[in-house]
Formats: sequence, C-alpha cells, structure tokens
Amino acid sequence: MPWLTPRRPPDGGQALDVLIVGAGQSGIATAFGLKRSRVDNFLIVDMAARGAEGPWLTFARMPTLRSPKDYTGPDLDIPSLTYPSWHIARFGQDSWDAVKLIDREAWGHYLLWVRDTIGLEVENGTAITAIAPAGDLLAADLLNLATGERRRVHARKIVLATGQDGMGKWWMPPEVEALPVTRRAHAADDIDFETLKGAKVAVLGAGASAFDNAGAALEAGAAEVMLFSRRHSPQVIQPYRWLTFKGFLAHLGDLEDEWRWRFMRRILGLREGFPQETYDRCARHANFRLIGGAPWTSVSATEACVEISTPKGDFTADFVISGTGVEMDFALRPELSACADNIATWGDKYTPPKDERHDRLGRFPYLDPDFALVEKRAGETPWIKDIHLFSIASTMSFGPSGSSINAMTTVVPKLVLGITKGLFRSDVEAHWESLKAYNTPQAIIPDDAVE
Ligand SMILES: Cc1cc2nc3c(=O)[nH]c(=O)nc-3n(C[C@H](O)[C@H](O)[C@H](O)COP(=O)(O)OP(=O)(O)OC[C@H]3O[C@@H](n4cnc5c(N)ncnc54)[C@H](O)[C@@H]3O)c2cc1C
Repeated sequence: MPWLTPRRPPDGGQALDVLIVGAGQSGIATAFGLKRSRVDNFLIVDMAARGAEGPWLTFARMPTLRSPKDYTGPDLDIPSLTYPSWHIARFGQDSWDAVKLIDREAWGHYLLWVRDTIGLEVENGTAITAIAPAGDLLAADLLNLATGERRRVHARKIVLATGQDGMGKWWMPPEVEALPVTRRAHAADDIDFETLKGAKVAVLGAGASAFDNAGAALEAGAAEVMLFSRRHSPQVIQPYRWLTFKGFLAHLGDLEDEWRWRFMRRILGLREGFPQETYDRCARHANFRLIGGAPWTSVSATEACVEISTPKGDFTADFVISGTGVEMDFALRPELSACADNIATWGDKYTPPKDERHDRLGRFPYLDPDFALVEKRAGETPWIKDIHLFSIASTMSFGPSGSSINAMTTVVPKLVLGITKGLFRSDVEAHWESLKAYNTPQAIIPDDAVE
C-alpha cells in the first residue's frame, strides 16, 4: 500500500520523496529496494548517457569481472533477476556452464536489462550541481548537459550513488598530474590506446586497474610496458574474498568504531587483489616488465619523454598511466559545496592507536547508521542528515557497500530501511492522526445480532 503523502515545496508543485543521483548498479538497486518498500515517488538522474553509467561499458579495461561468477547483487535476492538467470535465458545453460568469469560488457548489458525489467526510468545526461536546504526539504539543482537547461527539484531525501570518485576524485601523485596531459592519464580516464602503438608506457601502481591498463596497452601494440609496484611484489591477497560472509557484510556497521576502523583499515590498506587472469594477460607479453620495490621518487617531462626515478634506478617513458585509485575531497564536488567543510570524517570522529593510523582512510566520511552524512560541527548544516551516501565512500563505516557486487543483496536493504525509517519517523504525527481517523469496518454485524 502506498504510505507516503507528497510534500509541497515552498514554490509549489510536488516534492520527490527521494532523489537518486547515479544510475550505476548502486543507484539502480537502491531504486529497486525503494520500490519494493512502496516508495515510488523518486527520480533517478545520471550525468552519463544510457549505457555509459559506471565503468563497465566505458573505462573498465578487463575482459571479465574480477568477482567469482556466482556473486549476485542488483537482483536483491530475486532469483529471476540474477545474472545467471539473464545469461542462461539469453545464451543457454551450456554457455553459462562454460563461463569462468562474467564478461564485463555482458555485465553492463545485464544492468540495463535489470533496470528495464524492474521498470525504472532514468533521466540520463542530467547532472546534479548543487544541494541546499529548503525548509524541511532539500533543493537540488539539475543541469541538462545537452541543452544547458537548469531546473530545481525538491526532495525529502537524496541518495548519492555517484561512484568511486563521488566524494572526491580519481587521484594521481601531484608530480604525475603536473605532467603535460599528452604524457599522462589516470587509469579511469578515456585513453585512446591506439595512440600508444609503438610507445614505451609506464604504469604506476600494482592494483587490478593498473594491470588492466597495462594489458590494454600491450594488446594495442605498445613497444614496452613497465608496471611499477611500491611493494617488492604486488599484493595478491583479495581481502574482498575473505569478507564475503553474511555476518561481516550485515554487521560490520553495527560494531564499535575501534573494530570498524581496525577491519577496514586492514582491508582498504591492503587494497584489492586481482585474479590470475589479470596477471596472465600482461605476463604473456615478452615486452611486459614488472618492477617491484619501485615507488616513484621523482617524475618530470622533457621535450622527448617522461623521466622517472625510483630506488631501482631511472627509467624513461613516452606515456604514463596512473593506477592510483581515489582520494576523498568533498570540496571538489559541486553538489556538496554548501556543506563540504562540515561533513564529518573518520579523522574527526575517531583517533586510532598509533600503529593503526592511516591518513588517507581518515578522510573517508563518517556516516550515520542510515548511511546519512554527519555534521562535523553540529547545527551548522543539519539538513545533511537527509543526504545518504552509497559508494566506496561508505566503506569505512559499513564495509563493502556500493563498492562491490557481493555486498549489494545484504547492504542495499539496510540503506533502504534507513531511508524509510527516516521518512516514517518524520511523518509520525500524520500517521497517528490517520490511525485515529481510521474507521473502515472489516465485517458487518447486523444490529439485531447483538443481544
Ligand atoms: C574498473 C573497475 C572494475 C571493477 N570490477 C569489479 C568487479 O569485478 N567486481 C566487483 O564487485 N566490483 C568491481 N568494481 C567496483 C564496483 O562494483 C564498481 O565501481 C561499480 O561501478 C560501483 O557501482 P556504483 O553504482 O556505485 O558506481 P558507478 O557504476 O560508478 O555509477 C555512478 C554513476 O553516478 C553518476 N554520477 C556521478 N556524479 C554525478 C553527478 N554529479 N550527477 C549525476 N550523475 C552523477 C556517474 O555518471 C555514474 O554513472 C570495479 C570498479 C572499477 C572502477
């Protein structure tokens, strides 16, 4: 039964119950969860074109997913909506049996099918550019990227499912960023690998995306690809495999800060490992070099090349790819400009023991149990309690959330419960009045039946 009465914004019209920003798998699964809870008055926007949401059909450069083929996610435990069901219906049981890891592009198409099957409409090509308070609502400024048209919508809640860089940016060391743009890229950038044919390429970082980009450069015909790992040998343990059990996924967020920090510092501090296939894809090329114990101590560009110094010696390259992950920096996000300096971080809320310190992770947001932003200084921006975050930035507070397929069936329902709890709580007086006024008889007892 529908249970929400639309609110009226100050300038008339009707407010949304929820605005979902981002139509990647996290935004889609969140919308699905809300629909199942009969919260239907929502809008999903994404600045990307249909099909270009998230990495799958854009900058992801691995042929297959890295997760085991039996992990499910956006289906929220509905068997007919799982990836295997879609794959078997489309390509047959034998094809599914032969799958070792799920094809990356197939995953991208599957996500589009899920959203069409659920009946979710997405407003593509629309970016959120600002969020501000408007009475007891939030006002969100939306920009149509094709026409330049701007409009304001009001919502009781906003979910930011804006991806890995959604609370900051894809990060490169400043000296790499300072190189001419013709000489460097981040692994998440749109790179024209054809132009690297015959080139000498240096990849910084030894995580999965660094290897994927090295593999793409090798396959495009690069003359040589050097991958530089800070560690002597790349990290090959995948802590995300360890944590894939219901207890951890469901309840890490219920633990005390000490435990949440300890677990997630260990997991995110290790960074993600990669499957054997990722390494083999590079190692099969004789012109691939894996250089361990080689952090870059300096890097600069000359007319002719990029010069790189490391404890393992000096190197030159024509082009540099930085596979160095993301950095939290709320101030970089226009939609957060009215509150960025008042969003509490883990560093604000918790001081770990000396041997557990980690400055980068301390910059992750510290979230409420309903995934809402928390104020650094209480009372300055109280309205941020209605902005809920579902992305890798939620990870320090709850363990894998938007950052990982395996967590979705467990964690999306928790996010949805957090949102519906807030909506119900703030309507409690209206519900009480409604109960008192409720007078629909369930049975008819004739007057003469009562002595
Ligand atoms: C290369 C790569 C490979 C990965 N492989 C795996 C894997 O094999 N297994 C696994 O479990 N996980 C994997 N992950 C991790 C995770 O599953 C993905 O990052 C996944 O895309 C997260 O989904 P999402 O919906 O949270 O974010 P995204 O898919 O990134 O979607 C976010 C969306 O928000 C939109 N957006 C951002 N800002 C705005 C704005 N201001 N206004 C409007 N729209 C906006 C973007 O356009 C984007 O479409 C991988 C990640 C990467 C980067």
